[in-house]
Amino acid sequence: MLQCTAVTRVPLSEVLTALVTMPHGPDTPPDDFTLDHYVLCELGEHDARTEHAALLSPAELPHRPALWFFWAGDGTDRVHRIVTVLWCPAVLRTFATDSVLQCALFDRHTPPHSWGVTDPLGDLIAGPVGSDDVTDDPRERPQP
Ligand SMILES: [Zn+2]
Ligand SMILES: [Zn+2]
Repeated sequence: MLQCTAVTRVPLSEVLTALVTMPHGPDTPPDDFTLDHYVLCELGEHDARTEHAALLSPAELPHRPALWFFWAGDGTDRVHRIVTVLWCPAVLRTFATDSVLQCALFDRHTPPHSWGVTDPLGDLIAGPVGSDDVTDDPRERPQP
């Protein structure tokens, strides 16, 4: 199933507040917290009654609840909430390689699990963001 293509701008101050107050979260926002204000829905394509969802930050410990941004609607009609939720307990076990893949979505998400979602925009997004990082790095700027 293709990934939902919804993108929204996150209110950074709310997110930072939620980060430092989340249970078992960091006491201060991590230095490398480079949230670029926009998040992409990580669910597979879903109907309009289902909220979009984007992972904001995992907890310090991998199995603790993570911080998610949920939203519905668009523009001025958008409603959102920032909450910590448990991880989806599903695992994909590949017996041939004896490997286990944990679902990267939250508990009680709409199907499919993360390994069933293909991201049509992944490559497109990887390009521009990667090149922006280079120009944002002061060491890469041309010297006057
Ligand atoms: Zn969505
Ligand atoms: Zn799942």
